[in-house]
Amino acid sequence: MAPKQMQHCYCKTYRCSGSLITYNELRKHQRADKSTEYQDTVDQINRQIFDLTLRHDGVPLMQGSTMWGHRGGHNASVPTSVPASIPLPDIPTTPPPSYPPDTSNRVECKSYEDLYLWDVEIALRIEAVAKMFKQGIATAVGSTESQHAINSLSAQLQWFRTTYHFLSITQPSSSDDSATVLKSAMLETLLTEISHIEKCVWRLEGSSVSKTSIAATYDTAKYFHHPFQTTSPLLLVAVFIALVLNILGHVSRPSCNLVLRMLKILLQSIFEEKGGPTQAESRILLNFPRDIRSVRKAFDIEPTVTIWAACPKCSYTYEPQENGNISTYPACCTHCAFPDKPPCGARLTTRHVLNGESVRVPIRPYPVQDFNEFVGAFLSRPGIEDAVRRGGTIALRGTASSDLHDICDGSALREITGPNGRPFMECPAEEVRLFWTLSADWFNPYLNKIAGKSVSTGSIVMTCPLLSPSLQYQAENIYLAAITPGPREPSLDEVNYFLNPVVRKLIPAWKDGVWYNRTHNHPRGRLARSALACVVTDLPGARKITGMAGHSAKLFCSLCKLTKDNINNIDYWTWERQDYRATGTGLTSIVEAATQWKNAPSKRRRKQIFAQYGVRYSVLMELEYFDFHKICCCRRYAQHVPRLSQISCQEGPGYGSPSK
Ligand SMILES: [Zn+2]
Ligand SMILES: [Zn+2]
Ligand SMILES: [Zn+2]
Repeated sequence: MAPKQMQHCYCKTYRCSGSLITYNELRKHQRADKSTEYQDTVDQINRQIFDLTLRHDGVPLMQGSTMWGHRGGHNASVPTSVPASIPLPDIPTTPPPSYPPDTSNRVECKSYEDLYLWDVEIALRIEAVAKMFKQGIATAVGSTESQHAINSLSAQLQWFRTTYHFLSITQPSSSDDSATVLKSAMLETLLTEISHIEKCVWRLEGSSVSKTSIAATYDTAKYFHHPFQTTSPLLLVAVFIALVLNILGHVSRPSCNLVLRMLKILLQSIFEEKGGPTQAESRILLNFPRDIRSVRKAFDIEPTVTIWAACPKCSYTYEPQENGNISTYPACCTHCAFPDKPPCGARLTTRHVLNGESVRVPIRPYPVQDFNEFVGAFLSRPGIEDAVRRGGTIALRGTASSDLHDICDGSALREITGPNGRPFMECPAEEVRLFWTLSADWFNPYLNKIAGKSVSTGSIVMTCPLLSPSLQYQAENIYLAAITPGPREPSLDEVNYFLNPVVRKLIPAWKDGVWYNRTHNHPRGRLARSALACVVTDLPGARKITGMAGHSAKLFCSLCKLTKDNINNIDYWTWERQDYRATGTGLTSIVEAATQWKNAPSKRRRKQIFAQYGVRYSVLMELEYFDFHKICCCRRYAQHVPRLSQISCQEGPGYGSPSK
């Protein structure tokens, strides 16, 4: 029988394993346990923050590794190379994310001597790579020797990537400045060599794969090697705080600059308290940013946006001519509404001071996000490419029942043709094919208040219907193509001018595709083609952007020639169908009528054509695969997408307040 005051203790800190102790001691042990647990949690959170900020793909860095411990001597201090003859799998195997709860399981510290030997190995391999490439480029295209060179280079590429990964998580021994300097120099060498080998492989492959039809090539390397991967965590966390305050907290620029300065002072005083900054620490202080704008630039989170100039009078849009870092626009609007009418002539630009230089900026700016850049970032995210491919397979299979649940279940998507005349969905193994839905809506950025201003800005948004709905509507998967400037909603034919920049990108994206240097699943690059699957808006919006007459017009139906007088005629077999494109029957198709409307010499003639056919020209008709007859118009989508885009217009980074 235990004495009254004694109790069993099972704490972890003192490892009592059930021995009898006094109540006061028990309380003390419990408190000790709790604080250890707390410390572990803090450590874990710290590590997660580093992982999330250091690596774009979210793979944790701080993993315990004994791969090159001291036990095996110096020969074991480098990761073993991949046998050159084995072709690499296309999908890189990333280690599963795990956070070892045991903090002693960290990467060992490396001295200058360890790193030195490692560096020699790197130099030897760089020499070997140069030799391999020389041999590969000399052999005949597509021969076994050429293929062998590609395989060996790919194996080397894998080695360099693995080495880069392990070196970046290596901690040089503290107070060993020479090791720190060597580490950052080695990381730089590795990055340069990785991109060099990638280029060599493309050149060897490029000579065997015909890429003549590819219109554009996009470099997506920045999504895989971020310059911040090698930055000191201290600097990174400090800068990250200011960035989050600025973007998510809407803290103004001067206040963020103050935060940056205070953080610098804080770091400085910590270093001094520890006995003066070491060489590495002085470098952190020296590189510490002072302006939040340079932080935003360094993190590279802004989307690539081109500012077009919209005419304040007729809304015609002008693409800027890039002249060095400065975009130039025509001074006046040169658009003629009709061939024999004088040009509009409204002023397009106004003076503005940029970096101390006087430049001309648009009076009515129209920001357009780069579509190809967006798709590059989209495909660089883990899991997206697979989700798109699987979504395509599901859509191609169709549903067994007659119920349709989503746009993809309908036959319209399967009937869209690719540039070769076959269904677009029949994706060749070496390509990735994307469908997009386009949504455009106009709203009042000041909200609809009774005494409020009546202003209208619009957004043009695209989402990928091959993704399942939850993925589709994640903010990062929505392509906010453009924000149409206010103060009024564009008129029926003006809307074409705003859609034009988007359509100009979609035409080559379907026809020739875009080559991305690297995607998450395909480190050696991928050809991506995109097609517009349907327009998703409310009914008035759909009629507006596709050029069809409104639902209350005389020719109210977009499919047949039924007039409003006969709206009570429900004998559907008497309805005369309208062809979308010419079928050779001699009847005027919608596209032909729209072309007539576009080429009409006067406003009166346009009115006549519109009254006769119920259609005006829409820039979407330039997409040769696109058929308005098959467009879905789904209210759930129409309510969902603009709401999200409103949020991103009002709060998202890059655009600021839509009233600007
Ligand atoms: Zn105990
Ligand atoms: Zn104009
Ligand atoms: Zn009809």
